[in-house]
Amino acid sequence: MATASGARDATSSGSAACARPATTHPQPASGARRQTLVGARVVLPTGTVPDGSITIDGTRISGATPADAHVIDVSGHWLVPGFVDIHNHGGGGASFSGTADDVHKAIHAHRRHGTTTLVASTVTDDMDLLVQQAGLLSELAEQGDLAGIHFEGPFISPCRKGAHSEELLRDPDPAEVRKLIDAARGKAKMVTLATELPGGIDSVRLLAEHGVIAAVGHTDATYEQTVEAIEAGATVATHLFNAMPTLGHRSPGPIAALLEDERVTVELINDGVHLHPAALELAFRHAGAGRVAFITDAMDAAGIGDGRYLLGPLEVEVSEGVARLVEGGAIAGSTLTMDRAFQRAVTIDRCWTRWARRSRRRWARWRPGCRSGSSCRRRSRRSPSPPRCRSRRRRPPRPRRSADPWCWGHGPGHRRRAAGGRWRGHLRRGRTRAPRSARSAGRTHPAAVPSPARTARSAAAAAAVRTGARRRRAHG
Ligand SMILES: [Zn+2]
Repeated sequence: MATASGARDATSSGSAACARPATTHPQPASGARRQTLVGARVVLPTGTVPDGSITIDGTRISGATPADAHVIDVSGHWLVPGFVDIHNHGGGGASFSGTADDVHKAIHAHRRHGTTTLVASTVTDDMDLLVQQAGLLSELAEQGDLAGIHFEGPFISPCRKGAHSEELLRDPDPAEVRKLIDAARGKAKMVTLATELPGGIDSVRLLAEHGVIAAVGHTDATYEQTVEAIEAGATVATHLFNAMPTLGHRSPGPIAALLEDERVTVELINDGVHLHPAALELAFRHAGAGRVAFITDAMDAAGIGDGRYLLGPLEVEVSEGVARLVEGGAIAGSTLTMDRAFQRAVTIDRCWTRWARRSRRRWARWRPGCRSGSSCRRRSRRSPSPPRCRSRRRRPPRPRRSADPWCWGHGPGHRRRAAGGRWRGHLRRGRTRAPRSARSAGRTHPAAVPSPARTARSAAAAAAVRTGARRRRAHG
């Protein structure tokens, strides 16, 4: 669980992230062991709590609120789970292609921005150097500093090389892929490859057999070739939209194939440079939040700033936060951190919140297998996916609007009413006027006809008014 940065000392294990700039965070009293953060919007697996509280006990989130806890008001902030970044090349001025110290430097740079689970990505390099680096990174993964290793290259397409050295690229040979997997000693998590190249599909099958994710990326594949790769076992799209053919109406390319298949998770770099917000929205609409993974694809400059850096063997110039190769000017990774990616999603692009809102509405409307009526609807508002409503059964057909003017809206009672029952909700609530739909239809509801006693009272009152008016005219 993530907290405001004010509590980061207490959560040094890295379980902290906040979607506000660090300068605005309230600071905790020094020496306080137990802290309770109150007033923030808390993101939980079951939904978002608008005014939640989190208690930190030492380095762990205990959840309960002990009486002696130091209370910190973090109203206006978000508390989110620690971020997971599955594609990251470095940060804080160091890269995952460097020494153990460099790797630690990069890990801490991203931990300061809320990333608690990090897969180290390599870039295309000489095979022997990659094998050597895999050995170093696997040691750090065994110590628990890294979640695993992602090999991005050298098995990628020269047509979509991005910021990889063209002369070091090669076709995906299953024997060489196997060499990298062995060098990583069980810590290889993902290999990005252009599956359309000779040996690509065999390599995907080999990776799937070894429990390593085959990711389609830096590819020039057609739609059909991508479908074949997915059938062979590829399950991730490396930075979807970037370094692959665009979506065409006659040649949909890999983007359509990767978006449409439920088995594929799509990576997105939400830094405002790599993707237009509309492209991001498109991916969210088609894949849904459950199949989208924000990544940073960060290089050394993340968390540092502009300047000259190295990405593998290539020189990169970072200007105004955008990293480009000195030679050729291609975009070379990003300077993004996960808190910024999240912040953009919920404040600028709003794709996540839009999806969540739509999802909540869907749950409120469709509650397959649930018969508890309005109380369930109230629960659905609090949580988009209440446990009792998680049935995988087919949705019931949406009830059609009835021609009955006394009946409007939807819900469990609607069908009963549409079947001939009379709507009496307004009588129970003390309303005497017919529903607007009925009035506009020119029909008179029985309840709209006043009782004889009421008619007599109204007539007497009207007569009194007329008498009073006559008297005033006579005197005046
Ligand atoms: Zn990358």
